[in-house]
Amino acid sequence: MGKSKDKRIRKLKKTHIWPSILGLFLISGFLGLVMLMVVSFLLTDMAKNKIVAGCQNTESLVYLLEQVESPEDIKEIEESLLIYIDMEPDVEDIAILKDDTVLWSGNGKYPSLDSESQFFFEDIRVYIENDPNNTFKVEADDIIINGERINVKTVLDILHEEIRLVETEEFGHLKVWFEVPSTIGNAYVLTNLKFYSYDLLALVVCCSLIVLIIIVFVIYYLISFMHLLHTTRKTTKVIYTDMVTGGANQLFFEKRGNALIKRAARRGRKYAVVHLKMRKYRSYCTCFGVKEGEVLIEKCYNLLKKQINKKELMAHRENAQFALLLTYDSREALVDRIEKIEKVLNSVLPNIKLYFGVGVYLVEVGDKDIEQLYNNALLACDMLGDEAENKMAFFDVEMNKQRIWERKVEDDMNRALANKEFQVYLQPKISTTEEALAGAEALVRWIHPQEGFIPPNKFIPIFEKNGFITKLDDYMLEEVASLQAQWIEEGRKIVPISVNISRAHFTRSDLATHISTIVDKYRVPHNVIELELTESAFFDDKKLLLNTIDQLRESGFHVSMDDFGAGYSSLNSLKEMHIDVLKIDADFFRGTDEEERGMYIVSKVIELAKKLNMKIVAEGIESREQVDFLIDQECDLIQGYFYAKPMPVAEFVEKYKEAY
Ligand code: C2E
Ligand code: CA
Ligand code: CA
Repeated sequence: MGKSKDKRIRKLKKTHIWPSILGLFLISGFLGLVMLMVVSFLLTDMAKNKIVAGCQNTESLVYLLEQVESPEDIKEIEESLLIYIDMEPDVEDIAILKDDTVLWSGNGKYPSLDSESQFFFEDIRVYIENDPNNTFKVEADDIIINGERINVKTVLDILHEEIRLVETEEFGHLKVWFEVPSTIGNAYVLTNLKFYSYDLLALVVCCSLIVLIIIVFVIYYLISFMHLLHTTRKTTKVIYTDMVTGGANQLFFEKRGNALIKRAARRGRKYAVVHLKMRKYRSYCTCFGVKEGEVLIEKCYNLLKKQINKKELMAHRENAQFALLLTYDSREALVDRIEKIEKVLNSVLPNIKLYFGVGVYLVEVGDKDIEQLYNNALLACDMLGDEAENKMAFFDVEMNKQRIWERKVEDDMNRALANKEFQVYLQPKISTTEEALAGAEALVRWIHPQEGFIPPNKFIPIFEKNGFITKLDDYMLEEVASLQAQWIEEGRKIVPISVNISRAHFTRSDLATHISTIVDKYRVPHNVIELELTESAFFDDKKLLLNTIDQLRESGFHVSMDDFGAGYSSLNSLKEMHIDVLKIDADFFRGTDEEERGMYIVSKVIELAKKLNMKIVAEGIESREQVDFLIDQECDLIQGYFYAKPMPVAEFVEKYKEAY
């Protein structure tokens, strides 16, 4: 899988759980903090007020106690003290002590006060009743007592450590005793402060609210988390589903395939990656419509699925292509199995025969990236061409080399054209009557700066595939026209030079005008240029082809049919096409077994062509016997290694200078 593609898909599938979890924590944390701050503020406020009240009460007691001179005097102020306790809502109790002995106490209950729970606030001694069960913390800033600013923080810092909340019947009860020095020796008065239950109730309500809100958020986040998981699962399914068949797609194939081949060696399994392509699917869609085409693919998919086992894998790619990962024991058995699969697929349409192209890559130990392996299978299949036949090819290293070469050629071709790396080589055509130069064919050679000399069979087929061939042909035509123009200007005698015109040109309706425009730039007569068309060119748009040939001949060019008799030649084309020259394919003169039959056919073709007023050129002639035979048959021209191989222009001029 390509790195960026891989990354994009992973990104798409990624479940973003962490933001939800983090969000949950953040929101809960934030809420908790807010609530704590509120509670802390409430408590601080509460504690602050109590401390202020405590201090103030204590001060008023100082005045009352000034009247007490001896313990007996307590009786005199007892009533006032009791009224005071009654009247002051914050004062719960008062006790008068001397040398730690209780002299008097409002309700008679005086707490045991240990030295650890006492501290000084200004010059007032403060006791806190200890109860380790209930604690809470307070924070505060300054408070004002009698117009004076007191840093309560310091007091409360101590309180913070010391305060104990004692649960009594009143529910919330902080017992803080303030010591008031009195005139009775070292007797002192203790004031007990109340904390009311509603203070604590507020606290409890706040805490409950916090807990409630946190619970709501947790539930909300849990629900959205589940939803997210569900959506993620759905997205993953969509990513791996093929839209035509509803089955697995190529991505799924790659994901599962990688896992299967990784375990293959361990489990002692051999795998083959197979690319299966239905031929002429486009034609089927043109005839029956795209919808029917998709129905066909779906049926094929379902049939294919039944053909594979659990250890194997399949997916639909685009159009009518399927990817398979099959286990196999031997190559022969695999071929049999694939052929059987093709047969099964053929049962989909009872009246139409389906043809398949199959590319196979046998997975080797250490192979990892199934996308790459699949490309190998694809490449093997591409090498088979597009004919409507059942064909199968196994990937081999040569194919890979070819692919690398194709890339290089495609990378370099434009630069090569601009830098004139393509060169014209000329091969003479010799007349049979005088055995003298009567014409030449321009054949391209690539002089590559790194690769050196490259023959045309190494790049022409690539250019034919990618369409660059038309540019090259134009270039060659221009070079030849320029040569002829130069020779005419130099006053030389010239012979016609033929240029190959690839079939790719025959898609344009203005081809004749296009060719004329190129040649006319050099002001050379059209009859010194011959255009060689290959027979395969005659397959395509016949009407357009016939028109173009007529137009070219009308404007004075010679048109020849190249490689006549090779491949899919049809005698019929001779009937329809008015051409000037017939080039008999070199294949007729190859092979020893059928040479006699070949010669017989050649003589008959020559006879036929003569009757149709065509000139004959025999190609690929390598021996004297062949030359003699052709002279005998009154063939017009001979082109072949017997006379000369294609050569650079300068060499050609040098060799045939007498003729010029
Ligand atoms: P073609 O047009 O049939 O060219 C004739 C081929 O036969 C040339 O191969 C030539 O060198 C070769 N040949 C000639 N005499 C003999 C012989 O006696 N024995 C043998 N064994 N071969 C002989 P070449 O130059 O390698 O070109 C191969 C093909 O590449 C050409 O076949 C043509 O189809 C294509 N080609 C070459 N140049 C161009 C071009 O400029 N444009 C286009 N479209 N195709 C070109
Ligand atoms: Ca040719
Ligand atoms: Ca030829």
